[in-house]
Amino acid sequence: MASEEHTGTAEESIELPTPVSEEDDVEVTHPGTDGHDHDESEPEELDAETRARRDAALAQVRKLGDPALRATALPVERFDEELAAEVRRMGELMGDALGIGLAATQLGVLHRVLVYKAYVDDPVTALVNPQLEWASDELEAAMEGCLSLPGVHVEVERPARVRVRARDESGAELELEAEGLEARVIQHEIDHLDGTLILDRVSREQRKEAMRAMREANLEGHPQAAGDGA
Ligand SMILES: [Zn+2]
Repeated sequence: MASEEHTGTAEESIELPTPVSEEDDVEVTHPGTDGHDHDESEPEELDAETRARRDAALAQVRKLGDPALRATALPVERFDEELAAEVRRMGELMGDALGIGLAATQLGVLHRVLVYKAYVDDPVTALVNPQLEWASDELEAAMEGCLSLPGVHVEVERPARVRVRARDESGAELELEAEGLEARVIQHEIDHLDGTLILDRVSREQRKEAMRAMREANLEGHPQAAGDGA
């Protein structure tokens, strides 16, 4: 998942399902509604080096249309050096991409592994085989983006607080309670492990807007971005 935080310019990650049938929806435009004035996926004040590193990282992230994003990831059974390396690589890519969360499926790896860093001063947290144990009845709506859905930002309603059980990359058991942005990122990334994208969590209208925004982002910003299946 991508966030608005560090740059102030919302480089969020969103998951758009790109089912062919939805192409028609894209034709339905909403003149003047949506904010494409503010929702560019390119933070503007990035220096050239940061931008280059981000683009290189994003090129490794699967985009809407890639079947990996619709796959259900499998539980990790071996906690070995290979897994540790995978987690390190995910953390680095997430950082370079200026994202706040990344699921293994977004790199085409069908492991139940996610990393996140909801707040700038937090360390990167890795959750392996995460299970949502509890979610609050109270819901919260907020804008989300997705590294796999360039240019897309949609408002998603989710439980405000969650409790998650998982393992870390060395196999140690973890149980954590989260709220706010952390709870949101965790849910967004667990969704990824089940092949669910943020586009699945919004209304049809919002989905249309999002598809259009993504198409525009593709045309303008990222011509050959990441061999996304578009
Ligand atoms: Zn995402």
